[in-house]
Amino acid sequence: MLNLPLNQIATAIYGKVNATEEELASNILGVITDSRLHSTEKNPLFFALQGPVHNGHHFIADLITKGVRYFVISDKKFISNDAAFILVSDTTKALQQLAAYVRQQFNYPVVGITGSNGKTIAKEWLYDLLEHDLKIVRNPKSYNSQVGVPLSVLLMDRSYELGIFEAGISQPGEMQNLEKVIQPELGILTNIGDAHQEFFTSVEQKLDEKLLLFRNAKKLVCRIDDPIVESTVKAFCHANNVEPVFWSTKNKKTAIHFEVEKKATNTELVARYKAKKYSFEIPFNDESAIENACHCFAAIVALEKDPERFLSRFRQLQQVAMRLEIKQGNHQNILINDYYNSDLNSLSIALSVLMQQAGEKQEKVIILSDIQQTGLPLPELYSRVNNLLKKWRIDRLVGIGKDISANREQFKINSEFYRDILDFESRFSRYSIQNSAILIKGARQFRFERISGLLQQKAHQTVLEISLNALVHNLNIFRGLLKPKTKIMVMVKAFSYGSGDVEIARLLQFQKVDYLAVAVADEGVQLRKAGIHLPIIVMNPERDSFQNMFDHRLEPNLYSTDLVKEFVDAISTTNILEFPVHLKIDTGMNRLGLKTDAEISTSVGLLTNSNRVKLHSVFSHLAGSDDENLDDYTREQFERFEQFTKFIAERIPYSFDRHILNSAGIERFPNKQFEMVRLGIGLYGVSQTGLPLENIGTLKSTVSQVKTIQSGETVGYNRKGEVKDESKIAIVPIGYADGIDRKLGNKNGTAFINSKTVPIIGNICMDMLMLDVSAVKVEAGDRVELFGPNITVTEVAEKAGTIPYEILTGISQRVKRVYLQE
Ligand SMILES: *Cc1c(COP(=O)(O)O)cnc(C)c1O
Repeated sequence: MLNLPLNQIATAIYGKVNATEEELASNILGVITDSRLHSTEKNPLFFALQGPVHNGHHFIADLITKGVRYFVISDKKFISNDAAFILVSDTTKALQQLAAYVRQQFNYPVVGITGSNGKTIAKEWLYDLLEHDLKIVRNPKSYNSQVGVPLSVLLMDRSYELGIFEAGISQPGEMQNLEKVIQPELGILTNIGDAHQEFFTSVEQKLDEKLLLFRNAKKLVCRIDDPIVESTVKAFCHANNVEPVFWSTKNKKTAIHFEVEKKATNTELVARYKAKKYSFEIPFNDESAIENACHCFAAIVALEKDPERFLSRFRQLQQVAMRLEIKQGNHQNILINDYYNSDLNSLSIALSVLMQQAGEKQEKVIILSDIQQTGLPLPELYSRVNNLLKKWRIDRLVGIGKDISANREQFKINSEFYRDILDFESRFSRYSIQNSAILIKGARQFRFERISGLLQQKAHQTVLEISLNALVHNLNIFRGLLKPKTKIMVMVKAFSYGSGDVEIARLLQFQKVDYLAVAVADEGVQLRKAGIHLPIIVMNPERDSFQNMFDHRLEPNLYSTDLVKEFVDAISTTNILEFPVHLKIDTGMNRLGLKTDAEISTSVGLLTNSNRVKLHSVFSHLAGSDDENLDDYTREQFERFEQFTKFIAERIPYSFDRHILNSAGIERFPNKQFEMVRLGIGLYGVSQTGLPLENIGTLKSTVSQVKTIQSGETVGYNRKGEVKDESKIAIVPIGYADGIDRKLGNKNGTAFINSKTVPIIGNICMDMLMLDVSAVKVEAGDRVELFGPNITVTEVAEKAGTIPYEILTGISQRVKRVYLQE
């Protein structure tokens, strides 16, 4: 834990201070960079980071009201007398400088890990293997970026005996910074695949950049079965005086040689090192797991530990689940699963997700295992956990484990305790949790996946996984295109384009968008019931839903004179004042909207005559914002929009917002933002102009059965799936009733399975489809992707002869949505 006076920090980061003597002398006990994450420490120092789309300076005022007193900034406009400020030229650099400074205070060994794949797994496994022997500090989850690495290194303190830090880079120039922060003594270079290739001209260049992390290291663990890696790394070690600890599965002359024997579900390994043999086993049989296990063995050797003592622990290695999973539970519960590790830092992160997903009326419950934090006396540790739970207003704690139970008197909130998971399973009444948001957080050995099994709705083999991180990423990309004052309305109609309603809306509320839009009032009522208090506009307000709209403050889109009249009449029977309404004008779509001067002036007259309504915005919709060939038409629409809104402004005594741009419009017409824009498909990952959006949804299923058929046999209805040679067919439980377009059958569409793209064979059935998997090793239970990272929605849409909108909104409600957050 950090513990430095402010003036020492200012010196370490070469900052100019604007603070009192007293402030300069006060001890800073933690660093925060995200205004939403409460620190577990008192007296945190906030670094106002500035990215292409995010500016931390904008949160300063809010943080001051929440009691934060110390800030590192790069924009002197934000200096005030309300708090202490350190001014630097680059806040991210300053954070790195502080971490580098802290790193230098400690001389226990530090392991640095980089590579394209496997960093987090290698780090976590090495931790698992060594944790019984050493107190280890490491990155929480995969915090390995330009910001994540310094935040991780700042966790170093005297109580630890080893640091293990991973570093990830996406561009040339970044590793140099991270090297100064981590200063590793031992390096591990994991797999150099072709991930993150776009910014590098060659594998060698990428390799050279990654190797910079080990410039000052004493030793380097590396696999040298690839000739490019071998020659580059050998030259590097020679030039920088780094002792190689190389290993291979091919070349027996390498320092460490592994013999690998894969079994049905596990792998047996024999390592040869210094004329000795070490046999061990891991409970996996895939290439990357084997490689990471070998890296760990080599690292143990490089740390000069006797491998013999660790061999049996390899058998206990577990899958590394780095992401939080958000699922619908039974009894109106929401489950947030994070059963990977439990320490104070990751607890704090998980609590922020709980807070974001919990509805207003939902009880917030945490099921928590013993915390694995080294260094603190247990009573103090659990008293800190108690403070954290109180700070996040958790209603109920279910503690599972010996330590947490023994320290029960530290908890001042409603709590109950169980010795272990078996005790929990036998005594806990699952009916005692209803309408709650439940965070299930426990270190792996507590086997909390069993709790989730108990509380979750029946598991389905077919799911649509939604990445909330990708959604936020996309939102930020669009925010980056907006002028500072432009408001943003997000379209969550049609079940948020198929990705789910409540969870998405909660996230958007948390991200402080300005407006949400739904298609019909019922969708809005659902959101209100889930605790969404953002303004919500109803695009298609039906007459018999007006009362519902009054009750839930759902704002109507008034698109015709008749509708204006009916709405004003209906609201006149209430005592509501200035209810927000919106007018839609038709500028060329020829769908809903007021079109003529007469319609507009009558409508405006009706609105200005009543004090029960107030016009909040006037908007229109573009017919072809995505199509260059229609740009002249789009410009005409803009022109009409400007004329009409001017006409209305002259007749209304107050101001209102104007908006016309949808996603493609935002991308293509930046100076027509007016006061607001309406974001739709772009948020869900589809760009017209090639913005670097992320895929948010992955439609997944699992193989039910695999069978071999002979030449001349056919697959499915009407014998449409013919095979010429002996073929292997996989049956997958997803069909047109789940939203798979029937046009994708008969080799038109594809699926992705075990790293290969395979064709759909035969007609698609209601609940099933069949894949020709002759070219792939497949067994029942294997995962199948219908779209996602390997097959884009746009690709699927093209094959089905439609647009991505229809594919996304067509995924049926019976397909469970599972939300993932890193
Ligand atoms: C759906 C909708 C949008 C969003 O359109 P995208 O092309 O998905 O960005 C915007 N405005 C209105 C009126 C809509 O109905």
